[in-house]
Amino acid sequence: MIDRATVDKILDAVRIEEVIGDFVSLRKRGANYLGLCPFHQDKNPSLSVSSTKGIFKCFACGKAGGAVSFLMEHEHLTYTEALRYLAKKYHIEIVEKEETAEEIAHRMRYESLLVVTDYAQKFYADVLWNTEVGKAIGLSYFRERKFSDETIRKFGLGYAASRPLTLCNKALKEGYKPEYLVAAGLCLEREGTGELYDRFFDRVIFPIHSISGRVIAFGGRTLKTDKSVAKYVNSPQSEIYDKSRSLYGIFQAKNSIAKEDKCILVEGYADVISMHQAGVTNVVASSGTSLTVEQIRLIKRFTEKITIIYDGDAAGVKAALRGIDLVLEEGLSVKVVLLPPEDDPDTFAKSHSLIEIREYIEENEKDFISFKSDLLLEESERDPVRRAQVIGDILQSVSAVADPILRNIYVELVAEKFDQKIDSVLAKVSEFRRKKKALERSRRRFEDQQNQGWQQAVDRPEAPLPDEMPADLQGGEGESGMPTAGYPVRDAYLAVMERELCYYLIKFGTYPLHFEKDMYYGAEPVEEMMVSQYIRNSLDDDGLVFVNDLYRTLFDRYFPFEATLAREEPEAMQQRIVRYFTTSEDEILNQAVFDLILEEHALTVKTYEESITPEDQALARTVPKSVLLYKLRITEQQCAATTKQITLAQRSGETDTLRDLVSRLQLLNTVKNRLSKELNRL
Ligand SMILES: [Zn+2]
Repeated sequence: MIDRATVDKILDAVRIEEVIGDFVSLRKRGANYLGLCPFHQDKNPSLSVSSTKGIFKCFACGKAGGAVSFLMEHEHLTYTEALRYLAKKYHIEIVEKEETAEEIAHRMRYESLLVVTDYAQKFYADVLWNTEVGKAIGLSYFRERKFSDETIRKFGLGYAASRPLTLCNKALKEGYKPEYLVAAGLCLEREGTGELYDRFFDRVIFPIHSISGRVIAFGGRTLKTDKSVAKYVNSPQSEIYDKSRSLYGIFQAKNSIAKEDKCILVEGYADVISMHQAGVTNVVASSGTSLTVEQIRLIKRFTEKITIIYDGDAAGVKAALRGIDLVLEEGLSVKVVLLPPEDDPDTFAKSHSLIEIREYIEENEKDFISFKSDLLLEESERDPVRRAQVIGDILQSVSAVADPILRNIYVELVAEKFDQKIDSVLAKVSEFRRKKKALERSRRRFEDQQNQGWQQAVDRPEAPLPDEMPADLQGGEGESGMPTAGYPVRDAYLAVMERELCYYLIKFGTYPLHFEKDMYYGAEPVEEMMVSQYIRNSLDDDGLVFVNDLYRTLFDRYFPFEATLAREEPEAMQQRIVRYFTTSEDEILNQAVFDLILEEHALTVKTYEESITPEDQALARTVPKSVLLYKLRITEQQCAATTKQITLAQRSGETDTLRDLVSRLQLLNTVKNRLSKELNRL
């Protein structure tokens, strides 16, 4: 565990745009940075990063937070792991404090798997460079493929030999746990004996890196020509490796993909490596599989332009065409380059200079729809039945294009190429889109039914429900994606007001309330006090305690923390308070506070005040008003409950109870009227 002073030191050093910039390509826009949001299917840059405030917010999906929560969400790190990551990035030494056993176990396991894969990568590289068999077979193979020593090192290539030079022998001898070697997919257990053996042997090894450069998996290629041996063996899915979310070479390529605003996609490991060696560094491979949505989104964080390079072999091209509609649907523009028939990207990169490669790509790049049309037009020229199928196939692709302008251009292009009327092409495309949308709608409806409504989280059904519930109060997962299960909503009606009062604490707690004459409802003159004090006093006066756990926790933690702060400008003090509440280990609370301070739309009272005066000038109006509204709502609830009890008492003829209840109702109504009157005066 990391002590608070170190946490502060780390957070002081962090520049959020640098942290997020390692994963998302950001462009400066005014005082902020803009980029594609990695948390939803972002078509236009919706992620805004404020370096001065140290926060990010996506205006499309609502995800927001600081550098730490970005890392937690994006890299699936725990709170402590995220801090460690930042400490490493900013060269800050960590002072340790004791961790709970559970924290240690979780961190150790994930970290251990990465340590084991890192160890394995070094082991395979060591075998490649420093053993007879490695040099004779592995290294000479790579050199035959004209990989330079520098390239071999840059991609961390290695060689997996067979006994006695096995990974499991060495790793077990050095004290690595069998459990981790198996969980990382490096070793397998022999049935019966439980003895370990290596997954990779007699193969050259290509390590697969995560986007942040850690080794998460391996691909092993055999050099044997024996047909009974699989050409490639790859790491299985594991806790650290999700094949559908990884792209080979993304770590080495990400910066130049962003810089050149284009991602070149090839098929295999060797293609990526040869292109890099030739100087074309914005290249990645999907390693044999067709692209997944997750891989496309990974690319989309850096660019919206994909160029796919195919070998000249026509059958392969046609097979590969199938996955592309998915890319179009994600709103990326797709271009295709066909290499000369005798080449693949690997051989082509080796036999041409960097300038030649770039020129070839530029001259032969064809947009996907034209490419597909030309290819299929040729083969269907004399066959009218096949021709109709081909047109349908191409229009299916056209209908996947997200941009309407581009889509219309393609409609015209296809109509011309296939000698069709534009109207009928257009009608067909619309039909495809309608069908797809209907399909999506029914899928979404199904999902909605699965995620039962938040009402079930509200356990006071008689409470009237406000039209707009804050996302973090909706049951299960809020819109922010954060689980709220730890904080059940006890009263949705009051939650809106409790949230609002918390908003004033977090944003303005230490600001002074300057009451102007006759503005305050009391007869006594009011001395100047802080917003937080005012709120606490007003609630204490009536013995009120927040009923919703989330806001009560925030309220209860606020005052002890505020008490520890030295007096300085309110703005500076609020910054410390925001930091305290957004970097705690209670992730749910962190997210709720982020949502509060990033609130775009106004809260209940704020709206009209804000249009007249800056928010901090209006505090003397808005804070008492919020408190009054809160009290009014509680009173209204009590009135409703009492009325109900009166009906019951009337029915059962309990006259004594009835009398008490009626006088209580009268009192409540008086209070209600007083509160309403005061509200109107503010
Ligand atoms: Zn988003």
